[in-house]
Amino acid sequence: MIKVGVLGYSGRMGRLIADEIAASDACALAGGVVRKVKPEYKKTEGFLVTTDAEEIIAASDVVIDFTTADAVPNYVRLAAKHGKPFVSGTTGLDTKGLAALKEAAKKIPVLYAANTSLSLAAMKQIAALASKLLGDFAYDVAITDEHHAQKKDAPSGTAKALGDAVIAGSQGKKKPAYSSIRAGSIVGEHEVIFAGAGEVVRLHHSVTDRRVFAKGALDAALWLAKKPAGFYGMDDVLGIKA
Ligand code: NAD
Repeated sequence: MIKVGVLGYSGRMGRLIADEIAASDACALAGGVVRKVKPEYKKTEGFLVTTDAEEIIAASDVVIDFTTADAVPNYVRLAAKHGKPFVSGTTGLDTKGLAALKEAAKKIPVLYAANTSLSLAAMKQIAALASKLLGDFAYDVAITDEHHAQKKDAPSGTAKALGDAVIAGSQGKKKPAYSSIRAGSIVGEHEVIFAGAGEVVRLHHSVTDRRVFAKGALDAALWLAKKPAGFYGMDDVLGIKA
């Protein structure tokens, strides 16, 4: 039974990940790390919820982080100190945050994914292949993303990752244009459009339930728990890294 520690347990994603762990036969929750312990946690949870990240990391076989960008460097350093595999789905990391993950990856397995949907990882590969095949021909490439009104960054990190796949697939021949919509409670829609004269190919990825990300993050953590030190992404989980 793999023991999973959840950093950011009180957040929307943290709670969904805890639900996925509870529903799995392969793992158990080692504990949750929060910024502030509320009295109801003690009464209802039946496992440790604490502000002491080191305690939970030490008690875990693998750690999943969905917190905030500024918390990640310290948490991944603690995971490296205790030799624990570390999955982070926290978005908005700056170069310092990414550097901290890569530094720790010399000692422990680290998986970073701004989008932990497994099928989105597959769509990136499909977009790269389409871009490779159409690279020498007259097709424009556009990427759209739609998210809820509160999301601040645009284009989304996922839209940019799809764009990187398009650029890499065509060896730089295709440079996508981006367009973003922020409205209502949309969870996440991404489209990669290859448009020629009189024809269009659309690759569309749609998320209607955040559980998709929680499930993907837990799949990634269970996969990562058995890996050697290194820096991984969702492509590696699918075994389709180009
Ligand atoms: P949220 O605001 O609901 O949850 C974040 C939680 O982290 C909050 O409860 C906050 O109190 C807690 N937190 C902040 N700093 C902490 C710290 N130092 N230690 C412990 N807990 C801390 O947000 P969310 O929707 O759960 O998203 C969390 C992160 O995951 C964001 O960066 C978001 O963009 C990202 N996200 C990624 C994916 C993905 O597929 N990888 C999907 C959804 C959200």
